Amino acid sequence: MSIFTGSPEVDVRERRLHSIIVYNGTGRDLYEKAKSCSINCGDRSFSQCASCSENTAMTIMARTRDTAVVMHSPIGCCSSVITYNIGIRGVALARKQEPFEVFTICTNIQEKDTIFGAAEKLREALREMERRHHPRYTYIATSCASGIIGEDIESISDEMEEELGHPIVPVYCEGFKSKIWSTGFDAGYHGILRKIVKPPRKKQEDLINVFAFEGTDTFSPVLSRLGLRTNYMVALASPQELETISEAACSTSICETLSLYVASVLEEQYGVLEIKSPPPFGLDWTDAWLRTIGKITGREKQAEELIAAEREKYRGEIEDLRSKIGGKTLYVTAGDAFGHNLANVAKSLDVRLIGITSLHHDLQTDNPESVNSMDAYVESNGDIPNFSVCNLQPYMVVKILKKLRPDFLICRHNGMNAMGSKLGIPTLFEGDANYSSFYKGIVNFGKRLYEALLTRKLVENVARHVELPYTDWWLEQDDPFYFTFGGNNP
Ligand code: SF4
Repeated sequence: MSIFTGSPEVDVRERRLHSIIVYNGTGRDLYEKAKSCSINCGDRSFSQCASCSENTAMTIMARTRDTAVVMHSPIGCCSSVITYNIGIRGVALARKQEPFEVFTICTNIQEKDTIFGAAEKLREALREMERRHHPRYTYIATSCASGIIGEDIESISDEMEEELGHPIVPVYCEGFKSKIWSTGFDAGYHGILRKIVKPPRKKQEDLINVFAFEGTDTFSPVLSRLGLRTNYMVALASPQELETISEAACSTSICETLSLYVASVLEEQYGVLEIKSPPPFGLDWTDAWLRTIGKITGREKQAEELIAAEREKYRGEIEDLRSKIGGKTLYVTAGDAFGHNLANVAKSLDVRLIGITSLHHDLQTDNPESVNSMDAYVESNGDIPNFSVCNLQPYMVVKILKKLRPDFLICRHNGMNAMGSKLGIPTLFEGDANYSSFYKGIVNFGKRLYEALLTRKLVENVARHVELPYTDWWLEQDDPFYFTFGGNNP
């Protein structure tokens, strides 16, 4: 069956990929159970905080140039829009590119609109966007409210496309539909694949699609040494670059959680090969990734030379860092695949991983042959003790950390990092997802971990004066998964 159905909506990850949000065990156990999909999604009866698919879809829509977003939602759903403008300006300046603004209008659906409908508000918002900014494409982001009242977004977008004369791209990302926020990535890319990407006119054999968030440009300095061009998707991409991603030689990403749907569809529909090696995090994965790119693009000899040169260049620094932080214990909290990447970088520095909490876990991939960093990690490293899946619930992670007391904590998501310091654990916030990639990234990662280690006295002092916002009952009872059901924790 085709991965890309062409229907307006892409199915949620719970159904497509058997994704889960509750698990408590080990990496190897999860790896084994994923083969038979013998774990259900799970849920919890108490949730401390959350995100939603609309938010993750916005990380796709709100980062492309000459486009605009009409959020068909109550105003509260737009609360994080400001962060996209700050983020995209920052990354544009860091990459020495022209900064731009993310144009967003919210239809501000109100109570009476949920009774009488808000179609006219949506039409007017699209007209207003055209009057103010003349975007090349306008996305419509749906919300729980527009979904629950059954607004006919498809008809409105067809009708307004004709009236305004530019493509309208509906993205169906209602928060209530999926417990897995990463469904929003798929929804955003599905809209782009359906309405923006064009069939290839000519193949660009030296062009590599790199699906990534914002972040330091670490890919083009490496790929350019192989005579290859980096096509970052989607942060900073122009409409023309989006339209021609079908012409690239292959697709890769900083983490398959972000790209597994779009990369599988590009391979299926346009023959853009998906790199099946895990992304370039840690020595062995970087070697394998470069060899795969070299093979696909006919540059195997250059790839071998690059691997040898880079390994030699950073050998001394990596050995020095191993002597400083080797043997220390590490705990990671991150989205699904990115946690495995960080664990693999830590391994290159002889840092001992004692556990991961990931925000969800996809038991399957759209294409069974796709890259699977969990499989790659377990197959090459044996196991991950204390592996848990928990969708951003600090009250649970606090209990895990209090029990394990790692030497370091790495947090991929803002807000979780303060927790480490409050517990007296030196903590690294891994906000720039590209920074620890490739051989140089191992050194960057090690140096930051070493610096974090030097804060131990300070954070221990902080911990002595901090009162955690949890009751004694919660902190004293044994099970962090007390409020969960389903998953592997019935
Ligand atoms: S869950 Fe629904 S209501 Fe809440 S922010 Fe997301 S789309 Fe809006």
